Amino acid sequence: DATASPSLLSDQNFNSLCDSVEAFLFDCDGVIWKGDKLIEGVPEALSALRSKGKKLVFVTNNSTKSRKQYAKKFQNLGLEVSEEEIFSSSFAAAMFLKINNFPTDKKVYVIGEEGILEELELAGFTGLGGPEDGKKTVDLKPNCLFEHDKNVGAVVVGLDHYINYYKLQYGTLCIRENPGCLFVATNRDAVGHMTDLQEWPGAGCMVAAICGTTKREPIVVGKPSTFMMDFLLQRFHIKPSKMCMVGDRLDTDILFGQNAGCKTLLVLSGVTTLSELEDPSNHIKPDHYTNKLSDILQFIET
Ligand code: PLP
Ligand code: CA
Repeated sequence: DATASPSLLSDQNFNSLCDSVEAFLFDCDGVIWKGDKLIEGVPEALSALRSKGKKLVFVTNNSTKSRKQYAKKFQNLGLEVSEEEIFSSSFAAAMFLKINNFPTDKKVYVIGEEGILEELELAGFTGLGGPEDGKKTVDLKPNCLFEHDKNVGAVVVGLDHYINYYKLQYGTLCIRENPGCLFVATNRDAVGHMTDLQEWPGAGCMVAAICGTTKREPIVVGKPSTFMMDFLLQRFHIKPSKMCMVGDRLDTDILFGQNAGCKTLLVLSGVTTLSELEDPSNHIKPDHYTNKLSDILQFIET
């Protein structure tokens, strides 16, 4: 119930939540890990849910890695998670093009990183740009004419640590000079905790740059978009009411779950503080909240 006050997770409400759902959807950064560090107690909590027969799905807005790279990251952290259980916004971007029958003889310009390029390739598409264009520069002589591949039919924008003037002009021209060109954003998170001590610009600011130059709005495929949820529901054949979305961010994770009719659990181990949750200006209320995922261990009989 989006209007009720969220309740602190307890033995009673956790067990009734757990009995009512078949699957748990987990946001990654802030719930499972923080950057490259596993959050304490997560392996035990995931194992406990698996041994109760729950299906686990991992949904991340971070487009810099592919599903394969995430599977490796889980493995390196000592977690057994298969590629099929992972939904990254990089994968969602490739699946969006596939589902919409994007022609394989057209190219995709990427303002983003390896994860997007790898997912495009796995889906049979030709990606351009990405890290390779990170070192390119422009020569702004008065008579210069910037050339781009006229066969680009889609521009995908995600977080790009190497974003530069060249890529901004390339993506802009692809969209502006071809009204049929698709503009896909992996996610719109404005900022993210790329390091422990500070927030840094997120994919949202790169998406906003292309919105500004093209006067176009993107199709967003990551959380909280309905594309990601519909795609996930189709793959798993589980009713939204039988799923619980666990996340650390109100405007992506909790909204994502709530829009679809899932149960929602906010953990305070990531970007949201208790005072932000309780602030009268916040209208996104999870069903329950708790400090960290491993709090559920005390409520599960083993
Ligand atoms: N995008 C980038 C580039 C990030 O670094 C992060 C978190 O580190 C996110 C998105 C958010 O990821 P998640 O949806 O797993 O919280
Ligand atoms: Ca998160």
